[in-house]
Amino acid sequence: MIDLLQAHFATGSTPSPNSKTRGFIPVSGTRVNMPFTFIHGAAPGKAILLTGGVHGGEYPCIETAIQLANTIDPAEVSGTILIIHPVNPDAFLARMQYYGPFDGKNLNRVFPGKATGTVSERIAYQVHQFQQAADFFLDLHGGDIHEALVPFVIYSKLGGPEVAEQSRMASALLGFPYVVGSVSDNGSIGAAAQAGTPGFLAELGQCGRWNQGEVDQYKDSVCNVLRALGVLPGTAQQHSAEYLEKMLVTTATEDGCWYPSVALEERVQKGQKLGEIRDFFGTVKAEYLADSDGIVLYLVTSLAILTQDPVCAIGVF
Ligand SMILES: [Zn+2]
Repeated sequence: MIDLLQAHFATGSTPSPNSKTRGFIPVSGTRVNMPFTFIHGAAPGKAILLTGGVHGGEYPCIETAIQLANTIDPAEVSGTILIIHPVNPDAFLARMQYYGPFDGKNLNRVFPGKATGTVSERIAYQVHQFQQAADFFLDLHGGDIHEALVPFVIYSKLGGPEVAEQSRMASALLGFPYVVGSVSDNGSIGAAAQAGTPGFLAELGQCGRWNQGEVDQYKDSVCNVLRALGVLPGTAQQHSAEYLEKMLVTTATEDGCWYPSVALEERVQKGQKLGEIRDFFGTVKAEYLADSDGIVLYLVTSLAILTQDPVCAIGVF
């Protein structure tokens, strides 16, 4: 991890133990500079990669990453923690939902990225270099500007049983109520898992808002995981979560107005109506039904909806 960062440090100096190094990681071939804090602990231990703001409109996770970067004391750390806060600063400043401003791509759908690709693909490629050098990867997300959600955690099943089990166990340590398995191969955690790095993608906060209470909860949850990994001192608290087999995302097939028929955390049955899209004259264009029994993990709250946008996600038991 230090070797990789070294290539990006403007100063050219190597971080010493019990130090904090801050600056920007330039993404090769782009104008993007990712703010980072590298915490080199006083004692040896695991290499942790912690990212917030892969999506620019998810504020609690971004503020959580910023505050953790400020407050974690290297004297208390065993190992190293690279925090990127946020990964997608231009999407953040442009207040964009899902997508990046330079290529219109969803950064969390282009992993592991490409060295000579579009801007989002190059960011993913850079982050993936750090993923490969890390022992554990925490990717902090939340509901986007137009999404409501109940806190949940996604882990990847792609890295083989051992990596998947480590990821699943660590996911529960956040203390969020639901833990969901994923087989997506173009997201951040899928790429990490396939490189042999366990981790998870956490979801907390929603609808373009943030408050210190949520950030405190997020920080406590992350620190609990870091304690379990031996990176922070103290004993990790155990939590019980409901494990869900997978997440089914329903996407819009029409542009127009979205009217959900279900509520967050509602338990739905296969075939139950999730909502409908109407045109600007109030005519129903499409109805969406649950493909399985499950629980509503997130729901789009904006009236506006575009074809291909997610409208609702169900965690399947
Ligand atoms: Zn996200």
